[in-house]
Amino acid sequence: MAKNLIARCEASGMRMTGARRLIAQVLEAAEDHPDVEELHRRAMALDARISLATVYRTVKLFEETGILERLEFGDGRARYEDSAREHHDHLIDLTTGEVIEFVDPEIEALQEQIAARLGFRLKGHRLELYGIRISHKKS
Ligand SMILES: [Zn+2]
Repeated sequence: MAKNLIARCEASGMRMTGARRLIAQVLEAAEDHPDVEELHRRAMALDARISLATVYRTVKLFEETGILERLEFGDGRARYEDSAREHHDHLIDLTTGEVIEFVDPEIEALQEQIAARLGFRLKGHRLELYGIRISHKKS
């Protein structure tokens, strides 16, 4: 199990102000891929005094420290997720904006083969699929 976000911030030598701790806590609880505005809304629910500018700065700091991964799903908005999460790829539903996470061993292996064929050892990758649902699933 990866160390929690606050612990990793502290381990990086970051000075943990109240605002940083609060934003780290919001990120820790997130199971989706929030953008800065959404993170601000969630942080405001815990402490109404927190400004959007503070959330922006903090998220940027976390990203630069490697604690957060910045994602972009084709709509020009930066979204964030904990970089310590297990590797996965994303499928974006173009109709609803829903983001579905998946891991496919065949894709993972194929990418390694492609890199090897081109003379590289693969150190990472990012894959985003964009699609429209074929049939409506009843839930
Ligand atoms: Zn994800």
